[in-house]
Amino acid sequence: MKVLVIGHGMVGHRFVEMLHSRLTSGGSGGVVPPERHRGDGVSVTVLSEEPRPAYDRVALSSFFDGADEETLRLPELDPGQADLRLGVAAASIDRHRQVVVTSAGEEIGYDELVLATGSYPFVPPVAGHDAPGCFVYRTLEDLEALRLLGLAPHVVELAPHLMAAQIDEGGGALLAGLVGDLGVTVHCGATTERVTTDPGTGRVTGVALADGTHIGAGLVVFAAGIRPRDQLARVCGLPTGPRGGVVVDETCRSVTDPHVWAIGEVACLGGQAFGLVAPGYAMAETAADRLLGGQATFPGADLSAKLKLLGVDVASFGDAKARTQGALEVVVNDPVRRAYGKLVVSDDATTLLGGILVGDASQYAMLRAMVGAPLSEDPSALITGGSIRSGEKGAGVGALPDAAQICSCNAVTKGRLLAAIDGGEAADVPGLKACTRAGTGCGSCVPTMKQLLESAGVEQSRAICEHFAMSRAELLQIIAGAGIRTFTEVIERHGRGRGCDLCKPAVASILASLHSGDHILDGERGALQDTNDRHLANMQRNGTYSVVPRVPGGEITPAKLKVLAEVAEDFGLYTKITGGQRIDLFGARLEQLPRIWKRLVDAGFESGHAYGKALRTVKSCVGSTWCRYGVQDSVGLAIELELRYRGLRSPHKVKGGVSGCARECAEARSKDFGVIATEHGWNLYVGGNGGFRPRHADLLVQDASREELIAIIDRFLIFYIRTADRLQRTASWIEAMDGGPTHLRSVIVDDSLGICASLDEAMAAHVAQYRDEWRAVLEDPGRLAKFTSFVNAPGAPDPMITFTEERGQLVPAPARSLLPLEPK
Ligand SMILES: Cc1cc2nc3c(=O)[nH]c(=O)nc-3n(C[C@H](O)[C@H](O)[C@H](O)COP(=O)(O)OP(=O)(O)OC[C@H]3O[C@@H](n4cnc5c(N)ncnc54)[C@H](O)[C@@H]3O)c2cc1C
Repeated sequence: MKVLVIGHGMVGHRFVEMLHSRLTSGGSGGVVPPERHRGDGVSVTVLSEEPRPAYDRVALSSFFDGADEETLRLPELDPGQADLRLGVAAASIDRHRQVVVTSAGEEIGYDELVLATGSYPFVPPVAGHDAPGCFVYRTLEDLEALRLLGLAPHVVELAPHLMAAQIDEGGGALLAGLVGDLGVTVHCGATTERVTTDPGTGRVTGVALADGTHIGAGLVVFAAGIRPRDQLARVCGLPTGPRGGVVVDETCRSVTDPHVWAIGEVACLGGQAFGLVAPGYAMAETAADRLLGGQATFPGADLSAKLKLLGVDVASFGDAKARTQGALEVVVNDPVRRAYGKLVVSDDATTLLGGILVGDASQYAMLRAMVGAPLSEDPSALITGGSIRSGEKGAGVGALPDAAQICSCNAVTKGRLLAAIDGGEAADVPGLKACTRAGTGCGSCVPTMKQLLESAGVEQSRAICEHFAMSRAELLQIIAGAGIRTFTEVIERHGRGRGCDLCKPAVASILASLHSGDHILDGERGALQDTNDRHLANMQRNGTYSVVPRVPGGEITPAKLKVLAEVAEDFGLYTKITGGQRIDLFGARLEQLPRIWKRLVDAGFESGHAYGKALRTVKSCVGSTWCRYGVQDSVGLAIELELRYRGLRSPHKVKGGVSGCARECAEARSKDFGVIATEHGWNLYVGGNGGFRPRHADLLVQDASREELIAIIDRFLIFYIRTADRLQRTASWIEAMDGGPTHLRSVIVDDSLGICASLDEAMAAHVAQYRDEWRAVLEDPGRLAKFTSFVNAPGAPDPMITFTEERGQLVPAPARSLLPLEPK
């Protein structure tokens, strides 16, 4: 039997794998009759229009984070599986002769023809849509053309809210707020009238909306949906669906030609074309089984999906829009955690039907697996507080039936995973992935797989993520010991794969902690940083940035105050005194940052690292210099500490405070390290913080001299940097420490582990290597080049950023308030 597959995308690839595994392993699940298992006489040819073998299109966006073709590639087909013809497109089908003609004119005969040609991105027919600078987003070639970072994007959406097909208005509102915070300007309910172009060059200059608005842009990316690539089928007379797609029955066979099959996004089954990989995989399995004489039928499509939209979790599952008769909706919209959750339950509230999660979708896989199962508790408990966030309570993996599907991309049930664990096939997530394929699609079920391993009593490592088998602290020791200075070297020597948004910033932070002298924007480190670090400034909700120079201890001369005032006036910046006793200047555009910082650096200011996981400020009261109650010079000490620790990168932000007497006007006990003057010296408190979960710091030493105090804070900070988990504040680090503050004291005061000399040395190296990050940018044209709004028009301001006046200062224009933003 000659099988010819047109299209080597994700589904075509899976089809070949399934066919091969059935031919070689005697079938799967007894579906295929044994007499059909012999592969003799079955030959498979695959035509691939793309010049490369199939790759993980779902993970395409990771290309922007540095993934390359090789890391996205799916397992290679060997010649025994198929004759893969790369760069060969099918041009026409002659069904009568059972022959496909390629674009090179070659004729290839078939007994069975499988169409797996996927979709193409739909581009609305607006004028100018094909001008230079317009792009789509489907293949690696598209992304090669788009590989540009540091832009200020706008999203134009026709629907009244984002992702209208997947989520509801409430979720869409929160999503718009969250992506808005990342510097993306969202225009919902907006119709694109035309793409505007430069009359001279013909290049894109922006987009004109029907309401008269013009959005200036150097690039336009169309992401307006997909259409099945069914042209070959149409031309040879195969029926297609009303919205496109080759019409097939539940066996994936064409309804009019028994020798033609269609699978994946090009198929129209039950009147519907599916734009997700899981239904495509199910079709691949069905067609492979049927071709070998099996009885499989398409099991139906689970259209649940979890996506990361610009880093924001968005998920919908089951009957997300509550279309079931009498369905009830339980909604939790938490503006503090910035999470939106909706569960749809049956009219008697006994069965979960579906739901929507935005901002935090950590419970997605669990909740999706519970759809259709009886609810054993109040549904709101599943999406409130700890339940939705950390899985501490509410939905428990133990409560799921064995038949619950944990991985919907590969249709893997809880029972199958447990069998793999109990049978000793797998003892960790990579092992489970290898033997069941679960977690190898969109990856959203990986947290549930971890919970399953834990509930089965398999000890879980503290690995940072699946790319590194060690904890952050262990990785830091390895990097320090081996003297490694790049992420590439770390992952090549001590990790696997290409990294992710957990391990990349963690490694970036470790490298910055260990090598204060290396600039964080140089080499590949620039791409590892998050948005704020990448621009050495905090991005604000309207896409502008804040400028926060260091004001050590909160002490500032009138001359420097004057410079801040002049800069703010000249650049039209909003000014505000911060809680950390410095002055924020808000509203700077990306391309203005270097000019602003040039003025500030010339006047003696430095970066305040308000954007970094690093020392922020050391706050002080006026102390004995001015205050009648002060017993020590708190300002002098605060300045000394702030200058000593400036630029020190750490697992999370670090704040300090120094109070000149027990009245505690500097609120030092709410800081990571807080110092309070006594008659005889200084008391040191550690592990405090304000914020969402306030905690008072613990007393570590009493009546220390200035030198003793500084030595102990040095060790405290380096010990924290070396041993904390990623994004762990000092408070939770101490709480999680075996022996808590007593152990900490024994290590950094009594030197019980004999490491104090090494801690002291590390801090001395940091102090010696420190250089102001902003001065270093201004001195280097390569670093300066990263501060432009438009790649094709360096220095051009973004015309969409507009302001209005409030209480005598400029603030973002009301257009921004159309966005349903929540407080941070
Ligand atoms: C950016 C992005 C993110 C996505 N995220 C998700 C997600 O999170 N979850 C999810 O479930 N899905 C996601 N998808 C969708 C998912 O990638 C698709 O559902 C899946 O790739 C469909 O597989 P397919 O094989 O049917 O089509 P494709 O992967 O598109 O493969 C079709 C192949 O056929 C080739 N071809 C077409 N015509 C011919 C011809 N005449 N001759 C030879 N070859 C031809 C094409 O070049 C292509 O290589 C995403 C898609 C994109 C683009």
